[in-house]
Amino acid sequence: MIVKLNDHASPAAKSAILETLARQDYSTRRVSLPFGDFIVGLGDGAGDTTALAALEGVAWARRGAERAVLAGIDASTSRTEVPLGRTSIGGAALAVIAGPCSVEDRDQISTCARFVAAYGATALRGGAFKPRSSPYAFQGLGHEALEMLAEAGKNTGLPVVTEVMEPGEVEPMAPLVDCFQIGARSMQNFPLLREVGRAGKPVLLKRGPSSTMKEFLLSAEYVLLEGNPHVILCERGIKTFETATRNTLDLNAVPVLKAQTHLPVVVDPSHGTGRRDAVIPMARAAVAAGADGLIVEVHPDPARALSDGDQSLTLAQFRTLVEEIRPVAEAVGRRVEATPVPNFGEPRSSGRRRGTGWGAGD
Ligand code: PEP
Ligand code: MN
Repeated sequence: MIVKLNDHASPAAKSAILETLARQDYSTRRVSLPFGDFIVGLGDGAGDTTALAALEGVAWARRGAERAVLAGIDASTSRTEVPLGRTSIGGAALAVIAGPCSVEDRDQISTCARFVAAYGATALRGGAFKPRSSPYAFQGLGHEALEMLAEAGKNTGLPVVTEVMEPGEVEPMAPLVDCFQIGARSMQNFPLLREVGRAGKPVLLKRGPSSTMKEFLLSAEYVLLEGNPHVILCERGIKTFETATRNTLDLNAVPVLKAQTHLPVVVDPSHGTGRRDAVIPMARAAVAAGADGLIVEVHPDPARALSDGDQSLTLAQFRTLVEEIRPVAEAVGRRVEATPVPNFGEPRSSGRRRGTGWGAGD
């Protein structure tokens, strides 16, 4: 049960609401969000909204068991903008989060960061803890990778987004992370959702490969219930019968979610397709559909990537992506804020030799 308080609900009115919820067999919690103060009844209570709505200080009372209420479109009178670095996600400017699937070494992440920053990224992504289907596959460099990612972010001025897989890692990771990514496979790891909710940092929540939009929003609700409104929903493709692509990017999710929630929605055309050649077209389509931003995998030498090379853009292709989404954004009343640095140099497209690093020049 979710009770929204009026702006000037008195302490006596709040006590009466708490007592009424307790009488209906709920345990209670106060939740304060930028768009309102709420008293929430948790558990299997009586569900009598009429008794609650009649109380002084109550704007409305809704049952929450079946749907996301705090994340719901009418919980807030305005769309939530999630602050991230110098920009925010959910306003007129599109977020462009770019970087490798995994942080592989200092040279790889710093090169990637320099180029994506110069070409127009607004945030840097990179995995340190990787959820791999096979336990034998590269699992990420862990804390060492986080340090490298944070350093690359600091040197380029880009905030960093990285996946957290375990509730116990949230606190140790927090000082090095600007936004916690919850991976698709973890979308329904409820203890993890609560923990990132409490950390108070922005959360990029990926849609589970077999999750409905309703389940997706209910997962976001877990984070909001901890008093953290800064959730970015990410459509990253769902499982279908199709095998030509790794997943089926469900662009329906963009308008449908936006009709149901005030939270920003971004799209991941990399995991959504699994194919480099489909990433830029689907990025353009996502922007046209009204996405608030993109998260894309970029690697200085995709052929040698330790994870997700087939879907990673080269540095030069990332520059093309930014150029190509710009007119699409303008056509739908949005903008790509960052201006690529002119003559930044061409990345070496491939053929990294050990020890020589990647760089501009040829
Ligand atoms: C990733 O972003 O590298 C990743 C593992 O994504 P997802 O959880 O969407 O598969
Ligand atoms: Mn990946």
